[in-house]
Amino acid sequence: SQSVSDDDAVRATNDDAATAKLSAVNLGYWSDPFISLFVKRTDKKIPLIHRGYYARVTAVHSILKQFMAVTTETFKQVVVLGAGFDTSYWLLKLAEQRIRWYEVDFEAVVMRKAAAIHRQTPLKTGLRVSEDEPDAPYVYKNDGQQVHTNRYHLISGDLRQWDQLKAKLAGCDFDPSLPTLVLSECVLIYLPPENAAEIIRWAGSLPQSIFVNYEQILPNDAFGVTMVSNLELRQCALLGIQAVPDLEAQRQRFLSNGFAHAHALDMIEVYSAVVQGAERTRIERIERFDEMEEWDIMLRHYCFSWAVTSQPSAFADIVLR
Ligand code: SAM
Repeated sequence: SQSVSDDDAVRATNDDAATAKLSAVNLGYWSDPFISLFVKRTDKKIPLIHRGYYARVTAVHSILKQFMAVTTETFKQVVVLGAGFDTSYWLLKLAEQRIRWYEVDFEAVVMRKAAAIHRQTPLKTGLRVSEDEPDAPYVYKNDGQQVHTNRYHLISGDLRQWDQLKAKLAGCDFDPSLPTLVLSECVLIYLPPENAAEIIRWAGSLPQSIFVNYEQILPNDAFGVTMVSNLELRQCALLGIQAVPDLEAQRQRFLSNGFAHAHALDMIEVYSAVVQGAERTRIERIERFDEMEEWDIMLRHYCFSWAVTSQPSAFADIVLR
């Protein structure tokens, strides 16, 4: 079982992700005026990492935007597992949409996020719901431990104790009958397999849900793992956690836990699907590099997967583009 210092190492991966995003944003890979409000340190990363993060963020946002567009008739919900300093809610201006947004992470991470939201005006005002809701005046509660508005909820807890988090979600108006997207970006890999499966099974039991997962695969390819400095895979090996090995196993984990359809692509496929045309030319000019073999190996070690439950056929049309 994991110790407290192991958990500290896991929490620190959020700083890695946020500083890498800031490093890429500073070079113009994509625009995100909010990430620098959470992290100050620009620990400049190598070009391969920037380009990889660009593909990851673009793929996640592609699916999120399609989910938003599926229906505007009812409220929809998004649950971000291990959200860290994810800025999507601000970047995609989601306070303006009929969406309930739930972010979950360890208390130590949530406290830092709550403090930044409280201190930084753009973060605080970005939560404000613009649509008039006569019956529900805008609420903003931030005690430094949790943040709640009518629609945004930042909740602390341990994903390995899903029952407790489920109860917290229920306490924040989570409605299992609404269309729900569950997002985990480099998170499930840190959980013991039975805990990850429990969360997937919960999501798979919701009548209208889509689960989006991004994480490392091919843990047994020692050559690839060291060659691309795949930090998370190495950390998991240290923690004694085994990653889901390959694309087919990623799909099967969804299909055996209640989902009707599942897709899993490696990042080579994702990169060519989401980075195209003039945008591709722009991206590949920001930082040129010759390490095509390393780039290829790195991309093969990351998997982007999503799965849908059977009810709403609208989700079946979601593709990566
Ligand atoms: N999803 C964010 C992103 O992509 O930028 C952060 C990714 S970071 C690599 C992993 C996050 O998962 C960290 O913020 C960490 O604290 C969180 N996490 C990992 N295990 C967790 C657990 N058992 N309970 C709650 N949060 C956890």
